[in-house]
Amino acid sequence: MGLCQRWRRLRLSGLQTCRLHTAAVPAPPQWLAERLGLFEELWTAQVKKLASVAQKEHRTIKISLPGGQRVDAVAWSTTPYQLAQQISSTLADTAVAAQVNGELYDLERPLETDSDLRFLTFSSAEGKAVFWHSSTHVLGAAAEQLLGAVLCRGPSTECGFYHDFFLGKERTVRGSELPALERICQELAAAAQPFRRLEASQDQLRQLFKDNPFKLRLIEEKVTGPTAIVYGCGMLVDLCRGPHLRHTGQIGGLKLLTNSSSLWRSSGAPEPLQRVSGISFPTMEELRAWEEGREEAELRDHRRIGKAEYTRRGFSEPPDSDRLSSSLSDHAPSHPADTLALKPMNCPAHCLMFAHRPRSWRELPLRLADFGALHRAEASGSLGGLTRLRCFQQDDAHIFCAPDQLETEIQGCLDFLRSVYTVLGFSFRLALSTRPSSFLGEPCLWDQAEQVLQRALEEFGEPWELNPGDGAFYGPKASVSLLQIDVHLRDALGRPHQCGTIQLDFQLPLRFDLQYKGQAGAPEHPVVIHRAVLGSVERMLGVLAESCGGKWPLWLSPFQVVVIPVGTEQEEYAREAQRRLQAAGLVCDLDANSGLTLSRRVRRAQLAHYNFQFVVGQKEQSKRTVNIRTRDNCQLGEWDLTEAVQRLLELQNTRVPNAEQVF
Ligand SMILES: [Zn+2]
Ligand SMILES: [Zn+2]
Repeated sequence: MGLCQRWRRLRLSGLQTCRLHTAAVPAPPQWLAERLGLFEELWTAQVKKLASVAQKEHRTIKISLPGGQRVDAVAWSTTPYQLAQQISSTLADTAVAAQVNGELYDLERPLETDSDLRFLTFSSAEGKAVFWHSSTHVLGAAAEQLLGAVLCRGPSTECGFYHDFFLGKERTVRGSELPALERICQELAAAAQPFRRLEASQDQLRQLFKDNPFKLRLIEEKVTGPTAIVYGCGMLVDLCRGPHLRHTGQIGGLKLLTNSSSLWRSSGAPEPLQRVSGISFPTMEELRAWEEGREEAELRDHRRIGKAEYTRRGFSEPPDSDRLSSSLSDHAPSHPADTLALKPMNCPAHCLMFAHRPRSWRELPLRLADFGALHRAEASGSLGGLTRLRCFQQDDAHIFCAPDQLETEIQGCLDFLRSVYTVLGFSFRLALSTRPSSFLGEPCLWDQAEQVLQRALEEFGEPWELNPGDGAFYGPKASVSLLQIDVHLRDALGRPHQCGTIQLDFQLPLRFDLQYKGQAGAPEHPVVIHRAVLGSVERMLGVLAESCGGKWPLWLSPFQVVVIPVGTEQEEYAREAQRRLQAAGLVCDLDANSGLTLSRRVRRAQLAHYNFQFVVGQKEQSKRTVNIRTRDNCQLGEWDLTEAVQRLLELQNTRVPNAEQVF
């Protein structure tokens, strides 16, 4: 379908209008047509070039398939897809990509040399990653076309995919826009558009993405060779290593799930981004089965968001106690247990939980999380505000894992950290402190661990720095050494705070003689990761309070709405509005003090930083509406009460930082 034709269809479909948001689909931007034109030109040239290579290099190569089968193929001509067809039509239909000599390949990419080849299907984790990665391009294409989005990045995740894009500083994606976006995704999938792999030079890349500042920065930072790979799919052209599905028609069922805000932090100034997440499956039946499973899980899930995040990431929260045998306070068991003391840290208790019965490698990684209160006998002179307390809570966790699980676990910790800090609106910097000069233990173990941490940081993709020899000495005897990743976050004023931390510990398992039965049957010591995302919860509250200067974002605000009746006759309706807001779970007060003028009461609410004031007079009462102002005294005008409540909930649930501006 041609560009203009497609646009006309979108316009006629009328999907894109809703009550809250009435912008029509924009005309096809010039840059999109230009980008596609250039891609087609380069594609034609590449097809010609490959045909001549195939002619020149024409020779037979040997391909080993799983199960020991060996077949002949033609260099630069035979594709994995053709081989899959030879094996069975089912395999050809269900394969999503191939692995060729360890490298991931598109099914349509010609083989070049003798190869070991295996096929990936949706049933494997790698296959799912390719499938969801391809699906996020479809979402990206839909966002470009419907919303005029400037695409940033769209990775697959453990369970689906998301795409981050830019819509301008003030604009957010609304929940009410997801259905229209989803329908375009489904249309693009049904159109079975092929993914086309193109090798482009640095100059060509800059030309292709000249209208996307984010891609230009990525090209600058990530493209180190003379060329890089881009893919075309329908009208989309994106910078990507691949591999992808053969065509979008392999996506039988696709659903968009959430919209939220996110942040571009890769380089340069941070920019507000919009994130849409989704999930997809090879067939509609699989999508339906997944939806049913999810509804069931949601029905049963009575927990709050924070805790749900713990469950999703595989942490368990053991029942906890304030008290601990005083013999354990020194990070290691020493005297026989006698007196009980207030718990200063969770590490020893979690070690005991690990050790209380024989453990097998199958139970690892074991992730124990604890929000329990901790007590420290700080000198009274050093106490201050929420920053240093004698009793505080920490979002503390310990991960007991096998050495070969370390890298994945560290990456999991970093990802958790990023997702929490993004929601809180913090940017952050990472620093890796390597072993102190007088370390304990075997040097080769430390070398390996340092490499693991460096690899995890590289893979994570955020900037980090190295502090050689800065690893911590820990505990009263200063005899426990650790490798650690320090996380320095920056608040809205750009001030640094050290809150989260990730520490790698080889000593603790030895001191507590923690063991598990290894895969070969012999006992082995686990490695322990100590990690905190918020650090002290009280301290984090202090940082947040100062960072927002008392003007809390709506979703965190203790003063979300105040309803102000103009006169006593409207008091009853004002109370009803308050009840409606409260029933929806919003924090809402009523200011019916008729002794003060309306403007005094509005001013008072604004000084108290209520995010929104709902003023109700005679007109509002008769029309069941409210007149809305923000704490910055911006007048948003008259809104239907039901719609206003819905909009507030949407802004709260997507945790936007600037609800007052985007209402
Ligand atoms: Zn891709
Ligand atoms: Zn610890």
